[in-house]
Amino acid sequence: HSKKKGPSNYSFYEAKMDEKIHLRLELENQLRHAIEYNELYLHYQPQTCIKTGQVNKLEALIRWKNKLLGHVSPADFISVAEEIGIINQLGFWVIEQACQQISLWQKHHVICPKVAVNISSTQLLDGDLVNHFEKLIEKYGIEAHSLEIEITEDVFLDQSTRTIEMLTKLREMGINIAVDDFGTGYSSLSYLKKLPIDTLKLDGAFVSDVQHSASSQGIVTSTIMLAHSLGMKIVAEGVETQSQLNFLKSQRCDYAQGYYLYRPMSPDDIAKHLGFQPVESAETA
Ligand code: C2E
Ligand code: MG
Ligand code: MG
Ligand code: MG
Repeated sequence: HSKKKGPSNYSFYEAKMDEKIHLRLELENQLRHAIEYNELYLHYQPQTCIKTGQVNKLEALIRWKNKLLGHVSPADFISVAEEIGIINQLGFWVIEQACQQISLWQKHHVICPKVAVNISSTQLLDGDLVNHFEKLIEKYGIEAHSLEIEITEDVFLDQSTRTIEMLTKLREMGINIAVDDFGTGYSSLSYLKKLPIDTLKLDGAFVSDVQHSASSQGIVTSTIMLAHSLGMKIVAEGVETQSQLNFLKSQRCDYAQGYYLYRPMSPDDIAKHLGFQPVESAETA
């Protein structure tokens, strides 16, 4: 019995590795064609003003449905897109799709909140990003104020003048700048006073155990104070219960986003849930 265990475990392990490598290669191959095969689309998750209960923003979240792999989560393919060098192309597609959706909603007299798009740190190093935004805003006849970008703290690890310039230009155009997953990165806080930032998005991990952990409560409370003392707005991510929402309200958090309030939805469902008229979506236009 024990004699067999070694070698058979080893080959089992090898087979698993092969399978993993094969899957990864398949994912890369499929991802390279996702745009041309029309497999990507956006869902939108509302963000709510805690005081008034009104939806003030929609976060665009990419979705991928592949013919072989089925639904693949962005948590599993965004990093791959970065590694194989197609994130700029993919990110550009996301921005264009969001701009088109805003223009469609506006064309149908839908009062459209700001739309936030997630921007990967490599996109910020693309010298054309500002141009891209300018072109798309003109092409779809929308306002820069309709847009927000969400960047993560890793952007600030190397505070290259280029990144700072880029953010400053986007901010001057009228685009809102938000820091996503705030509190989970490894960067120092010093960037907060140097960079043009409008909003902090407190990571859902702190929100989720606010009921059971005094230290999470402390982090939530002091991050809200930090944002406000810097003149920034703060959004709590991953709000899943009424008691989390109550706590955030008691601490004067500005906005909340999470399954308890709204799930990410298709453009049509956004229109229905928010009491808009159903409108054609960007994908079918
Ligand atoms: P993120 O930007 O922090 O987005 C929030 C994620 O949390 C989304 O996952 C959302 O569906 C999920 N979420 C929202 N409310 C709740 C909640 O109450 N509980 C829990 N447990 N989760 C909640 P999603 O859509 O799977 O996206 C994962 C990540 O992928 C995003 O995190 C973002 O970093 C990245 N991502 C998504 N779309 C894009 C994109 O267009 N470009 C780039 N570069 N990254 C994207
Ligand atoms: Mg985000
Ligand atoms: Mg986030
Ligand atoms: Mg996240």
